[in-house]
Amino acid sequence: MDDESAVDLDPALDLTRPSIARVYDYLLGGSLNSEADRLVAGRITEAMPDLPAVLRANRAFAVRAVRFLVEAGIRQFLDLGSGLATAGSVHEVVREAGVDARVLYVDNDPVVTAHNSAIAPEHSCAVLTADVRDTTGVLGSLQATQLFDFGEPIAVLMVAVLHFVPDEDQPADVVARYRDALAPGSFLALTHAENAEQAPGTFRAAQVYSNDVARIHFRTRTEIAAFLDGWDPAAPGLVPAPDWRPEPGGSVHPAVRQHGLAAVARKNR
Ligand code: SAM
Repeated sequence: MDDESAVDLDPALDLTRPSIARVYDYLLGGSLNSEADRLVAGRITEAMPDLPAVLRANRAFAVRAVRFLVEAGIRQFLDLGSGLATAGSVHEVVREAGVDARVLYVDNDPVVTAHNSAIAPEHSCAVLTADVRDTTGVLGSLQATQLFDFGEPIAVLMVAVLHFVPDEDQPADVVARYRDALAPGSFLALTHAENAEQAPGTFRAAQVYSNDVARIHFRTRTEIAAFLDGWDPAAPGLVPAPDWRPEPGGSVHPAVRQHGLAAVARKNR
């Protein structure tokens, strides 16, 4: 991003510190990252060589989830912690599915927002710099109120973002506040890093990530399942991301299954 981005960024934005979105982009094979991101990503993958495969599985889940939601009739998407919109972003998946849908990309990283505003189609997308925890600010924003019809279902995507919200900020309440603001028939799609028995490499990688990028809050299956209170998970339920409605013939290394859970669920209250 220091030398490769097509987007004019505010010179005040700091690219010398690694960011969640740009480290993720680098590990997915993207070019929207800086030297600082690449350095820390190298240290993390040294400790945990499976991480890029884990992140690819997360991203592939998001694509399958959006396709599923389009088939379920959803035409409004609230992508919280959207990350940098690159291949497989919501508006792309929707366009490939040949439907008209509205997408609001929300992220608390202004570099992400600058990039996404430059590339997302203006007629159907909006972009907002906000914290996922600020439900009132997000739902009451000009972007959300102008883009969405709150009388119609909306899919809230919380893909690989809730593990950045600490327990003291009551992440389950955050999810519930979005749920309560949405019309019947709305959906939630989420993934979350799981507190599986951590191999020493995973533990080291998480330490480097938490020290140098952002604190990551691993949770147990029971804690992640609690986010689905008031939502009915679609089959196959809360499962490792690669096992959620996999494409026929797709295969992943078994280690990838140990690092996170995914679900798509329909509001039931
Ligand atoms: N959702 C995308 C995906 O799964 O492909 C991107 C995931 S990326 C690992 C996490 C994103 O969440 C980053 O872009 C980061 O800036 C954003 N993020 C982290 N904490 C956040 C918060 N409290 N509010 C809003 N966005 C946040």
